[in-house]
Amino acid sequence: MALKTTSTETRLTAAGEASLTSLPGVGPAVAEKLAARGLLTLQDLWLHLPLRYDDRTRLLSIADLTLGVPAQVEGRVVAVERGFRYRPLLRVSINDESGAMLALRFFHFSGAQAAQFQPGRRIRCFGEARPGSHGLEIVHPSYRFLAEEEIADLPAALDPVYPAVEGIGPGSLARIVGRALDRLPPDDTLELLPAALRAELAMPSLRDALLQAHRPPPDADVALFASGRHPALQRLAFEELLAHQLSLRRRRVALRAHGAAPVRASGKLSHLLEAQLPFALTAAQARVLAEIVADIACAEPMLRLVQGDVGSGKTVVAALVALRAVEAGKQVALMAPTELLAEQHLASFLAWLEPIGVPVAWLAGKVTGKARAAALAGIASGQSAVIIGTHALMQEAVTFKDLALCIVDEQHRFGVHQRLALRDKGLAGSKVPHQLVMTATPIPRTLAMSAYADLDVSVIDELPPGRTPVATVAVSAERRGEVIERIRVACAQGRQAYWVCPLIEDSDLIEAQAAQSTHELLATTLPELRIGLLHGRLKSSEKQAVMARFKAGDLQLLVATTVIEVGVDVANASLMVIENSERLGLAQLHQLRGRVGRGAQAASCVLLYRSPLSQMARARLEVLRQTTDGFLIAEKDLELRGPGELLGTRQTGLAGFRVADLIRDANLLPVVQRSSDALLAKSPELADLLVARWVGSAARFAGA
Ligand code: ADP
Ligand code: MG
Repeated sequence: MALKTTSTETRLTAAGEASLTSLPGVGPAVAEKLAARGLLTLQDLWLHLPLRYDDRTRLLSIADLTLGVPAQVEGRVVAVERGFRYRPLLRVSINDESGAMLALRFFHFSGAQAAQFQPGRRIRCFGEARPGSHGLEIVHPSYRFLAEEEIADLPAALDPVYPAVEGIGPGSLARIVGRALDRLPPDDTLELLPAALRAELAMPSLRDALLQAHRPPPDADVALFASGRHPALQRLAFEELLAHQLSLRRRRVALRAHGAAPVRASGKLSHLLEAQLPFALTAAQARVLAEIVADIACAEPMLRLVQGDVGSGKTVVAALVALRAVEAGKQVALMAPTELLAEQHLASFLAWLEPIGVPVAWLAGKVTGKARAAALAGIASGQSAVIIGTHALMQEAVTFKDLALCIVDEQHRFGVHQRLALRDKGLAGSKVPHQLVMTATPIPRTLAMSAYADLDVSVIDELPPGRTPVATVAVSAERRGEVIERIRVACAQGRQAYWVCPLIEDSDLIEAQAAQSTHELLATTLPELRIGLLHGRLKSSEKQAVMARFKAGDLQLLVATTVIEVGVDVANASLMVIENSERLGLAQLHQLRGRVGRGAQAASCVLLYRSPLSQMARARLEVLRQTTDGFLIAEKDLELRGPGELLGTRQTGLAGFRVADLIRDANLLPVVQRSSDALLAKSPELADLLVARWVGSAARFAGA
């Protein structure tokens, strides 16, 4: 392929990157509206694919209309009925030569518009027929009147219907996209996939794929487009997935090019800890530990993700790994996304490491003044070997003496950039620290490959013995009284309980208030109980105090916001109530539920919901009722909500696919993976161009 020269690159960039005001009919005002929708360049418009196509190339007889299938018919107005039933109503009955009747129904219309419908007039209209009160009807069809003898042309192509852009009518938008398409460069400029790969895939060229997707011929299989299975769409999805994969692989290759300090230790310290633990590692923990230990002994930086369901015991694995680094005379940083979680880790590490003579340092945003100066000094001098904290660890003021290993917990809370920022802390010359990422969010296999193409993955697929699955019920919030009774009984038996008040708005203030008022309500209803309150707006010392009292069994009931979602570990707590459960993601509910069932006693979880439940919400709660397997739950969540929701844009940028859909296009992933490796090896310059085309700004991290 003749794509290696910079002049080609410039040409390619120039063609696709041209600004939209270069199009006829697009002035600054229109360009601004397009920009608000993320449409900035010609290429953005090329990739702004139709949602569906309206087929006005044919006329159907009314008798042949199919329910739910948009179609075009021609007929005569037979009757007009205007009325008011809750809202203004206009119903126009038409028929055609087939003799069948069709009602056109309008809820929004002007008087002048209504007056145009005169019995006997000819009309052509387009819309989706549904069952109405008097046979078939079309609500708000598009229509035009025809003169008595008129034989109106039928368009030659399907009409693309684009995702709406606020402030631009559908017709204008289609025209603008059409003009952008007129500027599509020829194949030899546009195409980036090597010929051999294209032959293997048997997919159309990029230019053909775009033209087919925007302007399918009248005989195109519209259903195939709608399902995303049309070769044109598959071609676009493939290229997009490939570009994303390439950007992640490249990042990994770039990182591997750095060296890392090998962490070699006899394991003396970690064996000491293991001997002191009140339990033996599960086989899965031992296996994953061995994988990590082998990784960090290499002079290449480790990049490993440890996935393990809630309660699978990731923390102790992290501690055992950390001790290897300590024994080798190096530093380890453990970063957690919330202060509460970081504190829990601190408590665990202190309990495990201090007895064997390894000090643990602490750094969070709220560590200030002298304590902070002392912490920073210890980190800089290398005196502190194990440092636990929040993103405070990534601040500029923090310098490590010899950071060999970064452990990041609950990674889904951190963006890729933050992960990289901590790693950069350890950049010493050309060396980077080893990285261990731990997450309890099980990513379904199909996604894992794409979401974590820059990471190796280990799975702790086994829970410690003796856990009883959490019995889960969904209960309408109207029956809150019964649930409160249940808490009374459980606490009287010496059990402890959580009452979680998640909120939907992204405001920890409002969330805190909700928890506060629930706390008041429960305190009034259950005066005999000692009830604590925990939310994000408490001072860190207050949070710590509340947690400590709950852990000690001094508090029987803990009313909390979702701050307790991850990491909180109180084995005696065996009952959990979650409010507004219908509004939360399955993965999040699973995390929350994972706070109970950590001891040997039977645990239960009550999902309070507001009636009425949508069918989707019901299906989702049902999944939780039926299984406590995090992987299965993640698969279902994915099925029900799609990857954007599951992963969140913060996490990987994966949600931002323009064409591809990880579930629908999962069949493409193996080829994507194979092709990306081949492309990186053989034509890295094409890889660069593909990444620039599809991933754009995300590529900024590629060299990081
Ligand atoms: P997570 O993987 O969710 O972070 P934790 O590391 O918090 O799980 O572990 C949950 C609980 O299980 C902790 O109390 C921990 O000490 C305990 N634990 C870890 N490993 C084992 C094991 N092999 N056997 C028994 N208990 C274990
Ligand atoms: Mg954990």
